[in-house]
Amino acid sequence: MEKRELLYQGKAKDVYATCNPDYLIIEFKDDATAFDGLKRGQITNKGEINNRISTIIFRLLEDNGIHTHFYKQFSAREMLVKKLNILKVEVVVRNISAGSLSRRLGIEEGLELNSPILEFYYKDDALKDPMINEYHIYALSLATPEQVSGITCLAFKINDILKEHLLSKKMLLVDFKLEFGLHREALMLGDEISPDTCRFWDASTHDKLDKDRFRRDLGGVTEAYAEVLKRLEGA
Ligand code: ADP
Ligand code: UDP
Repeated sequence: MEKRELLYQGKAKDVYATCNPDYLIIEFKDDATAFDGLKRGQITNKGEINNRISTIIFRLLEDNGIHTHFYKQFSAREMLVKKLNILKVEVVVRNISAGSLSRRLGIEEGLELNSPILEFYYKDDALKDPMINEYHIYALSLATPEQVSGITCLAFKINDILKEHLLSKKMLLVDFKLEFGLHREALMLGDEISPDTCRFWDASTHDKLDKDRFRRDLGGVTEAYAEVLKRLEGA
């Protein structure tokens, strides 16, 4: 597959066309942002590490019957994926309270939730991705009821698969964000699954192994991302 023109420059990834209109190349960058772009920086080696972590996770999901955009790792920082029409709805699943859930509802961080919480956000940087519900989605034609029930079902299934796998690698899956899209009418998982888009905690110490180390200036950011990769690569 041949890499062609740059189509989109994102905050963490750049997207390129290929010689095949059905496929894209996603390049994972070291650039990091937080607080809706207010905080900007670089995390050494993040691009390469997140490409490898996402590759491992997409393969795991495919092995468990989840359709994803993943085709193959293209280079150290690049992934070849199916081109999707990304739905403008971001899906967050939470198992343990943290981040905006804790702030919004005044709950301490680290509380194990009785059941997973699923939230929808409107994917719009200018509006800072506001939270929405199914009524907003239908009223604004962001997705059909069939697609919403599809992404809901997939999000919970992905949560079950990842939670169990991460626990076997001594990590807790606190929360994560997913993006879905359509490839020739078929709904599938897109974007990335990495410490940029998930909260991973060490299962015994609850040490943060994700972007909260960057958001909160905790230090050891690259080391934490590398630790997640090492554990996922471990037998
Ligand atoms: P942002 O757009 O928020 O700055 P990124 O830097 O991660 O985020 O940019 C990657 C962009 O590529 C995102 O907007 C994401 O929705 C989009 N994307 C991810 N996977 C695909 C795909 N398979 N097809 C088309 N677009 C995709
Ligand atoms: N998340 C993300 N992109 C976003 C917003 C959130 O990947 O634009 C992820 C985030 O890393 C965390 C989960 O979604 O794993 C829940 O994030 P939260 O709503 O708590 O927001 P935060 O406080 O992290 O900004």
